[in-house]
Amino acid sequence: MKKIRTHAPRKIGLAAWSKQFDKIAEETIRKYKYYNNDEWGIYFSPPATFMVYGLRELKRLKFDNSLEALRMWGFVFNETERLFRAKQINKKLIATMGDLGTVPVLVMAFPDCIPFYPECLWWTPFFKESTELLDTASKLGIPEATCFSRAVAAAFYKKAYFPRPDLIIASTGASCDDYSCVMQVVENMGYEIFWVETPCRKSPDFFLSRPKPQILEKSSAGLVYSKILEEYLIKEYQRIWQVLFKLTGVNNPHRLTETIKKVNTLRRMVMEIKKLNAEAEVAPLPALELMTIEFGNLYGYADFDEWVEIVAALHQLVQKRVEKGLGVLPKDALPIAWVTPSADPFLLNLVEDLGCRVVATEYVINQSLVPIEENIEPLRALARSFINASLIGTTEERVKNIKEKITQRQIKGVLITNMLGASHCAMETRLIERLLGDVPVLAIDIPAPFGITQQIRTRIEAFVETLR
Ligand code: SF4
Repeated sequence: MKKIRTHAPRKIGLAAWSKQFDKIAEETIRKYKYYNNDEWGIYFSPPATFMVYGLRELKRLKFDNSLEALRMWGFVFNETERLFRAKQINKKLIATMGDLGTVPVLVMAFPDCIPFYPECLWWTPFFKESTELLDTASKLGIPEATCFSRAVAAAFYKKAYFPRPDLIIASTGASCDDYSCVMQVVENMGYEIFWVETPCRKSPDFFLSRPKPQILEKSSAGLVYSKILEEYLIKEYQRIWQVLFKLTGVNNPHRLTETIKKVNTLRRMVMEIKKLNAEAEVAPLPALELMTIEFGNLYGYADFDEWVEIVAALHQLVQKRVEKGLGVLPKDALPIAWVTPSADPFLLNLVEDLGCRVVATEYVINQSLVPIEENIEPLRALARSFINASLIGTTEERVKNIKEKITQRQIKGVLITNMLGASHCAMETRLIERLLGDVPVLAIDIPAPFGITQQIRTRIEAFVETLR
């Protein structure tokens, strides 16, 4: 086998990636495949391939130059193809929505069931540098004053971004109302939705003011909750289990226990990558790759087993880079926290180019980062892990970890990205600003595709200056 050349870590654009790709041996390209299929499962391609297919923003983005990152991007951008293939080979596609990370664990416990998150399509208009999906959503009656997740309704309408799911499970209740309203429009189009109620994690003050004492517990992330919430979630998960049983004819709790172990393997690796990245003298991976890794916890980009392998390779890469003191950003890059994920990936590049380094995040997916208990009944374990969810509690609880890092002086500033038109994320921004005000905080609205203006750049530059 030809020896794979390794390059000094840095961020590179499409042309450089294509050149590097030419030097990769055929056997390496053939080694990695989705659904473990030799014939059509190869996904290793340079990002330029996906730019030609329509992801125009790729020509502006910079990526980590490692083989491991290239493999990751090939896999992530191949997801639409993967979902259509899944359908062709009779796998069942289950759209899981709103809960961000827990329902897919249940789905994966059933044979040939593939969970995926249609709402993750919210960054598609940005990658495509096109407002087509957003405009279609407006025509469907979803006003601009709704978060970019409205692109999802257009994707359901156009039937071209993923096959018709065999089942749609969507959460409501203490979930985001923007997304939940979008899903009601999807339901009105004729899609049947299995709604799951997500209860609210009330604050400890609420319980103290109740005349009747409640049984209180502490979550794995140290959040206080009422035991009733745990029991309620278990009942909701039992309902999901029943509907999946009806769909597949399989009822095997042992598979859930095994799935939880696999999910935990991934979650631990991702937490370790985040920790290594935060503590290293030089940032071992760029923020864009780190965000993509963190979101992979939700459902493994529709092939969980392959995703675990990809992250294991990235984990090793990060370990090696940290040991050697190598990385992709200057040593003096300023450590910041990022709150709420950016729908526009370009912003992550830009903030790094202007001198920052992301060492902590709150991407509304805290629930998918905690290990699931393995020594208790699995549905209870899932309920307990979900109780750490970012969206079901107070804002103070949501940013608790970031606040701790500010106190420990690990962070010099906080960047909050608002979704233009979103109610939930925008509403929380002022509260977060107030709570994290011990360091400079910058809140910016993510404009519609291709809308990052000089004004936004200037505001970030000014923010960076205040951190120096
Ligand atoms: S408003 Fe925020 S939480 Fe809700 S769908 Fe949009 S980005 Fe997600």
